[in-house]
Amino acid sequence: MISVDEARARILRHFHPLEPEKVPILEALDRVLAEDIYSDIDIPPFANSAMDGYALRSGDTMGASRKSPVTLKVVADLAAGHTTHLKVGPGTAIRIMTGAPVPEGAGAVVRFEETSEGLRGSWGPTVEIYKEVSPRENVRPAGEDIRRGELALAKGTVLRPQELGILASLGRPEVEVIRRPRVAILATGDELVAIDEEIGPGQIRNSNEYSTAAQVMRYGGVPVRLGIARDRVEELKAKIEEGLAAKVELFLTSAGVSVGEYDVVKEVLASEGEIDFWQVNMKPGKPLAFGHIQGVPLIGLPGNPVSAMISFEQFARPAILTMLGKGPREKPEVEVIVDEEVTNSGRRGFIRAIVTRQEDGYHARAVTGPRGSGILTSMVRANALLIVPEGTTLVKAGERLRAQMLDWREGVE
Ligand code: AMP
Ligand code: MG
Repeated sequence: MISVDEARARILRHFHPLEPEKVPILEALDRVLAEDIYSDIDIPPFANSAMDGYALRSGDTMGASRKSPVTLKVVADLAAGHTTHLKVGPGTAIRIMTGAPVPEGAGAVVRFEETSEGLRGSWGPTVEIYKEVSPRENVRPAGEDIRRGELALAKGTVLRPQELGILASLGRPEVEVIRRPRVAILATGDELVAIDEEIGPGQIRNSNEYSTAAQVMRYGGVPVRLGIARDRVEELKAKIEEGLAAKVELFLTSAGVSVGEYDVVKEVLASEGEIDFWQVNMKPGKPLAFGHIQGVPLIGLPGNPVSAMISFEQFARPAILTMLGKGPREKPEVEVIVDEEVTNSGRRGFIRAIVTRQEDGYHARAVTGPRGSGILTSMVRANALLIVPEGTTLVKAGERLRAQMLDWREGVE
């Protein structure tokens, strides 16, 4: 039996970032930038006002206060998006809105609140200034955010909404990012029927196809759903051919990897490629297959729905993130105080748990109700997997462990 870490390392050796492609920026969200982005403009492109107020010469406001205001002549009114050929000379001001270009001659802006307009709520040919302003006050200089020629976004950056905003400011509707991996999903088993079929005697619906496809999507891959292959060599071969024709970068199968059982999955995979069957020292999810078919890697997930999901998180997620250029990034983990005693098999345990944040840190307890590897509702009740180290069979209340966060919502039960 090999450890989770070893299985992971053996799998990840075979994955590398995929090549870049050019996409519209909204399709680049959460993907890895594959080019350096230099700015060919200043942002902002011109000095502009940070406030609604009056553009003036700061020297003119010397000594100004509510008791002894300075009165200036208002020579223009300037809204954002407009310019003026008028200049601000001594004793004059231009009424200005946020984002409007600061006119020539003006070194500062005083806010409405510090003027007679703020007091009266109206304006006219003159304005009283109630406060001294310093040079450049309330002026956003050209290039304050990004300077022309500057590296605005470096290759390798994961693009979040704020990075997409920068690309928009730079006038880049398209960008080069690492392309998304295509991941084939293939359920196997005579007992399976499709989502829209009635279940007959001895049958269950193929839920793994959907939970696995959703996991693929969540981490940035493109699921290619191949449906169900019955436990017959010809059917399985045909599905695999379909996946190869769809040019997938990864096959994910479910079920038929339990060691010792008669299974056509093993037979076909062994004849079409090289496949290792492993027992991984974890619970749930002991059986796992890994190998290649015609050069395409295949991770054979266990059939039990919970085992399939947890094995995906440990092995398929890092493979997908690696292909996306994000590196094998660990699942986010937090240190937790265990609130109730937990028993464990002695293998690395992934206990479906609820983690909550409390004053002294994060706390965890196992979800209530049945938690077998076939009980998908145990995943529904959980927001985390409590990780019990190999060799530990009992965790007492008050002990500290690590928990892998499935998501960050709290109070799911
Ligand atoms: P196996 O790995 O074939 O021994 O299957 C383990 C358990 O998982 C069995 O109870 C199967 O019925 C169940 N199972 C297998 N494939 C799926 C699937 N695609 N969706 C839901 N349950 C499944
Ligand atoms: Mg089976």
